[in-house]
Amino acid sequence: MKAVILASALAISFACGASAQTYDDLLKDEKTPQDVLTYGMGYSAQRFSPLKKINKNTVKRLVPAWSYSMGDNRGVEAQAVVRDGVVYITDHEKTVAVDALSGKQIWKSVIEYPPETTRVVCCGIVNRGAVLYDDKVYRTTLDAQVIALDAKTGKEVWRTKSSSPAEGYSMTVAPLVVKGIVIVGVSGSEFGIRGYLEGYDAKSGERLWRTYTIPAPGEPGSETWAGESMKTGGGSTWITGSYDPDLDTVYWGVGNPAPWNPLGRKGDNLYTNSMLALDPKSGKVKWYYQMSPNDPFDYDGVNELVLADVKVNGEPRKVIMQANRNGFLYVVDRINGKLISANKFTTVTWATHVDLQTGRPVWSDATKAIIEKGQRQRIFPSATGGKNWQPMSFSPKTGLLYVNTINVGWDYEPLPVEQVAHLKAGQPFQGVKRESAFEDPNVRGALKAIEPVTGKVRWEVPGKSPNMSGTMVTAGGLVFTGKLTGEFVAYDADNGKELWSFQTPSGIVGQPITWEMDGKQYVTVTSGIGGVYALRSGDPNLANVPPGGSLWTFRLMDK
Ligand code: CA
Ligand code: CA
Repeated sequence: MKAVILASALAISFACGASAQTYDDLLKDEKTPQDVLTYGMGYSAQRFSPLKKINKNTVKRLVPAWSYSMGDNRGVEAQAVVRDGVVYITDHEKTVAVDALSGKQIWKSVIEYPPETTRVVCCGIVNRGAVLYDDKVYRTTLDAQVIALDAKTGKEVWRTKSSSPAEGYSMTVAPLVVKGIVIVGVSGSEFGIRGYLEGYDAKSGERLWRTYTIPAPGEPGSETWAGESMKTGGGSTWITGSYDPDLDTVYWGVGNPAPWNPLGRKGDNLYTNSMLALDPKSGKVKWYYQMSPNDPFDYDGVNELVLADVKVNGEPRKVIMQANRNGFLYVVDRINGKLISANKFTTVTWATHVDLQTGRPVWSDATKAIIEKGQRQRIFPSATGGKNWQPMSFSPKTGLLYVNTINVGWDYEPLPVEQVAHLKAGQPFQGVKRESAFEDPNVRGALKAIEPVTGKVRWEVPGKSPNMSGTMVTAGGLVFTGKLTGEFVAYDADNGKELWSFQTPSGIVGQPITWEMDGKQYVTVTSGIGGVYALRSGDPNLANVPPGGSLWTFRLMDK
């Protein structure tokens, strides 16, 4: 009987052409370069590709295959996904399917959201991408809805409202699909939300679970908040998590406490600025590790959690690596959440170091003066962070992380506590005075190749402006990333030498991917400046960068 069912299932899949993607395809995603189905190019979020036809020798022959206009002037931070000769890309107002070889549009699905939604978006009108599973395209919308589209037609299959912009919630995150469950997080710590993660049934859109990142009054962890401050405590979850199938555990970062001003919320403020380990089926938290307790500086701990097996004192360990907004590169045992190492990867003055025994940061005198006396102080990094949302990559070949780091500080002063008492959920929620500060205003960031456990920087490429795009590394020995001034660049992964560059029409805040079709390797990235740094920094280096979203695919010129 079993054999008969199997045979008919096979017949059906052949009759329909390519079969629907399954959980197994997602499990294998990082090892199957003919498609890119997940955010982060695989569940471990390494953004590493085994492809090597485009390599140190051939990259000089890399040329545009096509470009596609997004028809919009907002920033394009989305990572593309690719399957069966179709590239899918999102922005805040649409999802599109584009022929992977010709660049011609196949379908476009427009997203409508109430204009007042943009009132609760602190840091750029963006979307970070869709993912593919079961012949559907899953994404979130700015007004906090989760939708599934038919991958062939773009027709909506389901739509579920998560929450409301009126209460301060929005969504920019790309989903993580595990075992038929679509997992998403929210933005809105700058508007006094109570953050959460959710799991939805991929077939029906039914919400299966919601796990708040901030305990309710009386729940365990609520004692880490003064009074009722947890009710609007923040804890957004706006960067996609990763997944370890062997441990059946999802890892997801949690954002800053609200308001930024810490004076009215004494305590550790769990589970803000923490990494959570969760069961994907129930959303139940297995363990947490908090990076920045009682954070005054908007050090969202949401940054991507890259999974790898690395050697620590000669022993292989299953670890999570995170270049945190607070300027420390954390390596954590992903079985139990125990801290292994935490090293500074940019200028950091808010803490002297992280105590490896307790896992807690040791505040500098400047931070103590802010929290204990409400004083004005100069702190590195600023709210923009040592690294913001732009994902790093990890090469199992070189053992290095490739990180677009930021080096900007700020002069920071919390307003007196009685002046922040009026802050209401759904309204701006900061309560601080602030002004940017620089070590050198002409060097505001660097692409760095970093040893994860020691934190040693093997090479770096400083920039006038920081790079606010993702990095990707390949078995061909190349690191791809983009600059805010529009250059899409390939560097030698071993020494940082620039090997190739192409000027795209706008600044790059996107995420490169690479894929293969009919034996040829392609590289895809978006151009289109926007997002938090471009909008808020006033960086003079960007004065002549025009807006305008476009999607680019490159291939090797025939010899
Ligand atoms: Ca794949
Ligand atoms: Ca934040």
